[in-house]
Amino acid sequence: MAASLLRLARPRRAILPLSALRPPLSTQPLPQESSSSNPRRGLPAVLSFLAAAVAGGTTATVAFCDSDGHGHRVGGKESTELVVRGERKRVPREFVEELASFLGENLTVDYEERSFHGTPQNSFHKAVNVPDVVVFPKSQDEVRRIVMTCNKYEVPIVPYGGATSIEGHTLAPHGGVCIDMSLMKEIKSLHLEDMDVVVEPGVGWIELNEYLKPHGLFFPLDPGPGATIGGMCATRCSGSLAVRYGTMRDNVINLKAVLPNGDVVKTGSRARKSAAGYDLARLIIGSEGTLGVITEVTLRLQKLPSHSVVAMCNFQTIKDAADVAIATMLSGIQVSRVELLDEVQIRAINLANGKSLPEVPTLMFEFIGTEAYALEQTLLVQKIAAEHHGSDFVFVEEPNAKQELWKIRKEALWAGFAMKPDHEAMITDVCVPLSRLAECISVSK
Ligand SMILES: Cc1cc2nc3c(=O)[nH]c(=O)nc-3n(C[C@H](O)[C@H](O)[C@H](O)COP(=O)(O)OP(=O)(O)OC[C@H]3O[C@@H](n4cnc5c(N)ncnc54)[C@H](O)[C@@H]3O)c2cc1C
Repeated sequence: MAASLLRLARPRRAILPLSALRPPLSTQPLPQESSSSNPRRGLPAVLSFLAAAVAGGTTATVAFCDSDGHGHRVGGKESTELVVRGERKRVPREFVEELASFLGENLTVDYEERSFHGTPQNSFHKAVNVPDVVVFPKSQDEVRRIVMTCNKYEVPIVPYGGATSIEGHTLAPHGGVCIDMSLMKEIKSLHLEDMDVVVEPGVGWIELNEYLKPHGLFFPLDPGPGATIGGMCATRCSGSLAVRYGTMRDNVINLKAVLPNGDVVKTGSRARKSAAGYDLARLIIGSEGTLGVITEVTLRLQKLPSHSVVAMCNFQTIKDAADVAIATMLSGIQVSRVELLDEVQIRAINLANGKSLPEVPTLMFEFIGTEAYALEQTLLVQKIAAEHHGSDFVFVEEPNAKQELWKIRKEALWAGFAMKPDHEAMITDVCVPLSRLAECISVSK
């Protein structure tokens, strides 16, 4: 059965008009008036600027990514910034004209907008350049035309989802075109009996779960708030529920992507089981926008658990806490979440939230299932924790109390900022087998 289709609305930054362009090679500043309040009126103004510049004998290329005059300066002598270097490419003027011919107002060369898209919000990485153009396609066909135009003019492409990635994924070190997928956010079909949903890449996981909740279903991947399904596929993301439901690799049934030459590939049917042919979905998942632009994804859904319990326990050492996580797994208990916070993180949380949690290594668990099953698992883990010097084991079942506890974990990053307000975060992911976790944390500290 297919449920009714829904187009989710998410506010996005206003697209600044083309007329706000500050052309680095032009000696003629563009008239700014009126068009900034009316993007539609701005378009012809810029196109005529572009045409005039070509006719006026200036070179037929523009380097919008030039930092000169815009204060986009990173790195340099004495700098500790992690700078991603790149070539300073020149973008042909007719390239921008060609894009504008079918994208209309959904294209901008405004410096602020390009700089915003070229500066990661959650990463300490910086790039020497920003994108030359930011485009907002509304359909797969527009993505295809953008990619083919970029191919024709040999201009680099950076797809852009929720920009929550933490290692400089959305930087544009060579300039080029940033393809912002925020206008492609339609939930195309929900198949309740098959427990799957077909979505466009700009749909966020939080919005998707709001949509699914009345149907008793949810999508179990929860990376950064604001992350989109396209970006989540491209990063092969996980989340706090990965221990139970796996990563993006395990939760995508098929996808569609526009390849660099403009071809569209669909990687399979909605059937759960198939051994026919190459597993192209798994190749594209995790490819970070390098193999193609994802334009549609079919996701596997899960039933909302009828009951859950959230538990917290303190330990004297990181090793004790890690040993409990290992012993829990080995005992066959299926936790849905397990997270470790060290004493420094707990101090940050106390400072940011006015709490007085014991500042020691702390484990957080979630157990789901029927009420009896979730409680039984909780008590078993309580026993394991006691055998590893665990203390103050507490658990909650009331929805608000559970939400409050997980909020602490989800906002741990911002709590860190609160502890050192004049500092920048150096966020990264480390992946080690569980048996090496305690060692990894000790060495890092
Ligand atoms: C507070 C916080 C907590 C987080 N927790 C987790 C966590 O628990 N687990 C985890 O894995 N990650 C986590 N992250 C990181 C981040 O949320 C994930 O990497 C997420 O998958 C990125 O999705 P996005 O839409 O923001 O992608 P973006 O940051 O916009 O892009 C990421 C990459 O995907 C590419 N891309 C985007 N859209 C497309 C598309 N349609 N087609 C092809 N390529 C595309 C981009 O070019 C880029 O290379 C966290 C981040 C924050 C800030």
